Amino acid sequence: YQVKYGGRGHHRMYCETDPGVSRKFMLEKDLGLALDAEQFFLHYQPQIDSASGQLKGVEALIRWNHPQLGLVSPVEFIPIAEESGHILAIGDWVLNEACRQAKQWSDAGRPIKVGVNLSPRQLHRPDIVEQIESVLNEVGLRPDLLDLEITESAALEKPELVLARLKALKQLGLTLSIDDFGTGYSSLSYLETFPIDKLKIARQFTSKLENRQVNRKIVSHIIDLARTLDMSVIAEGVESENQAEILRTIECVEMQGFLFGRPVPPEDIWTMLHAVPK
Ligand code: C2E
Ligand code: MG
Ligand code: MG
Ligand code: MG
Repeated sequence: YQVKYGGRGHHRMYCETDPGVSRKFMLEKDLGLALDAEQFFLHYQPQIDSASGQLKGVEALIRWNHPQLGLVSPVEFIPIAEESGHILAIGDWVLNEACRQAKQWSDAGRPIKVGVNLSPRQLHRPDIVEQIESVLNEVGLRPDLLDLEITESAALEKPELVLARLKALKQLGLTLSIDDFGTGYSSLSYLETFPIDKLKIARQFTSKLENRQVNRKIVSHIIDLARTLDMSVIAEGVESENQAEILRTIECVEMQGFLFGRPVPPEDIWTMLHAVPK
């Protein structure tokens, strides 16, 4: 059985018993066309200094406007891009776009950091350091305005190789964060040796701050751990004023979440940069 869509005579296999298979197959094929067709764009989510309420940085988050399906979530397509290898070209584009945007803000007198998610496959490509260096040079962005977010699992897959690579990346002058901290491997020993600047506390912990005393203690301990290791710390997924208040009390350095702003187009960040901090 075949299904036709797209209006260009493309025929695609369709598995009647498992429609999920066809959707994945379709997304994988279309990912290869999406860059040239300019279907990707970036949104940026504010990162707030807990003490002052000031906008300190933003995280760049990719969006895909699929011609037939509309917006497809990165939760769905990033793993497919990772598996198929499309992530390398897509990752290049994200890095370029985010650095260009940060450069524009910086040139306009509002230097804020931009966080870019680096997937495991990107981190493991042999030329990643050269590639990021050349983007920084081409764009002319101050390296300290770029923060690369990596996951624990990516870092620990080949620890020796990754350690050397992270050190080389640090030499460029950028900063490194561990994304979704607390959800990956339980080994903490890597934290001592890896040149990490910031821990991003996973949303799973933040969302339970209010109702479970034990989670408050865990988050408090992660903050202490970060301080001990001379790292900064940001809580992800802050949705309520109550959570923010708890995080201020336990001295979480930065916060990110719907309470302070959803991921938005760059113009909206520009507006926020001119607003008085609350
Ligand atoms: P992430 O890097 O952990 O990004 C944070 C995700 O949490 C974003 O989802 C963001 O919209 C969402 N979020 C932020 N604050 C809140 C909140 O208060 N409540 C809730 N419920 N959610 C919140 P998004 O944009 O759908 O991205 C999902 C994931 O896709 C990201 O998780 C990241 O792993 C991946 N991703 C997104 N953009 C890129 C990219 O450019 N490259 C790579 N490699 N991965 C990306
Ligand atoms: Mg992230
Ligand atoms: Mg993530
Ligand atoms: Mg995260």
